[in-house]
Amino acid sequence: MNLILLGPPGAGKGTQAKRIVEKYGIPQISTGDMFREAVSKGTELGRKAKEYMDRGELVPDEIVIGIVRERLSQDDCQKGFILDGFPRTIKQAEALDEMLDDMNKKIDAVINITVPDEEIVKRIVFRRTCKSCGAVYNLIYSPPKVEGKCDKCGGELYQRDDDREETVRERLRVYREQTEPLIQYYSQKDIVRDIDGTKNIDEVWSQIEGVLESIRS
Ligand SMILES: [Zn+2]
Repeated sequence: MNLILLGPPGAGKGTQAKRIVEKYGIPQISTGDMFREAVSKGTELGRKAKEYMDRGELVPDEIVIGIVRERLSQDDCQKGFILDGFPRTIKQAEALDEMLDDMNKKIDAVINITVPDEEIVKRIVFRRTCKSCGAVYNLIYSPPKVEGKCDKCGGELYQRDDDREETVRERLRVYREQTEPLIQYYSQKDIVRDIDGTKNIDEVWSQIEGVLESIRS
């Protein structure tokens, strides 16, 4: 079962990916982890990627694609995988199709968790994080018992810079801009499965499970 997972920041992608990993025993492959691994193992591609990263430059597509290829060739991916953060462009999507074709594989589904921008903004902008223990609250959905204080350790709650409204809106803009063409690309192959991400965690999971069970059978 080869999957691509899409969803804006704050859509609960991480939580759902974890459930897929647990139930189906396939690894979640995020671009960040893959890069860190290639760099720390010191593979040739990892070393090349590091040169670009050290200079603060974007790693060119052929290196990114090479690293993905190395990762997908590993044993733990033979039953399937969940790609998260790759592909980001049509060029990468085409390269991925070509590489999977070579490996006699294909993408079975693109799980697209959808949540309207306004809902995402509410989820993130009302987030507060504990300065001491890192516990996360939401002033609307899961407020602390005492305003401004952590339930667990009494630490002070604050808003991370990443959680400010203008930052969130900019990330959403970038996400939509990058993702729209990909959704069109995979829609033509009829493998995009929209998941209503406004529901609670269990309801979102049962939609995803439904899609995955239909692929398996
Ligand atoms: Zn705390």
